[in-house]
Amino acid sequence: MAVLDISLYPDQVLTTPGSDVETVDEDTRRFIDDLTETMYTLNGVGLAANQVNDLRRICVIDTRPGDQPGDRSGLLQLVNPRIVHRQGHVRWEEGCLSFPDLFESVDRAAKVRVEALDREGKPITVEGEELLAVALQHEIDHLDGVVFVDRMSRLKRKMALKRYYRTLESIKSGARPVHSEGKGVL
Ligand SMILES: [Zn+2]
Repeated sequence: MAVLDISLYPDQVLTTPGSDVETVDEDTRRFIDDLTETMYTLNGVGLAANQVNDLRRICVIDTRPGDQPGDRSGLLQLVNPRIVHRQGHVRWEEGCLSFPDLFESVDRAAKVRVEALDREGKPITVEGEELLAVALQHEIDHLDGVVFVDRMSRLKRKMALKRYYRTLESIKSGARPVHSEGKGVL
C-alpha cells in the first residue's frame, strides 16, 4: 500500500467532476486501499479520489477512528456514491486536506442517505448524521468537483481564500510543512 500525494487547491483536478467506476476490480481495490492508507496517515476523517489526482468517483471516510491503532470498524469505502435524501440543516466547522490550515463553518444538511457500491461492487446504503453527514456531503462534493469554499458566501469565501493563499505561499517557500498533525480534516 502507498501513501499518495495530496493535490492542493487551486489544482484543477479539485474542480473537475469524477467519472463513475464501471467495474469494481482488483485495480479499483488497490486504489481504495491506497486512498484509505493516505487518509489514516494524514489523520483525515475523509478523502476523495480527486484529492490524490484521480478522477474516479471513490471516497473513503472514517469519522470514528478507534483508540486502538488499526481499529477500522468505522471505515467506509464508497464507489460511485450519490446522495439520495437530505434532511434538516446543520452548520459545521470543516477543514480539508486540500486546503491546509483553513477551517470555516459551512451549511450542510443535518442527515443524508447515500447509495453507493462497496469494495466488492455490491450496492450499499449509508445513512449519516452530524459529522458523518458532513463528511459524506464534503467528500461527494469533491467527486462532483465542488470544494468547501464553494459552499461559503461570496464575502466569506474571499476572506478564506486570502488567508489560504498566504498559507500556500509559506508551504511553497518551504517555511512550513504541508500538513499539520492531528486534525480531523476532510
Ligand atoms: Zn476536502
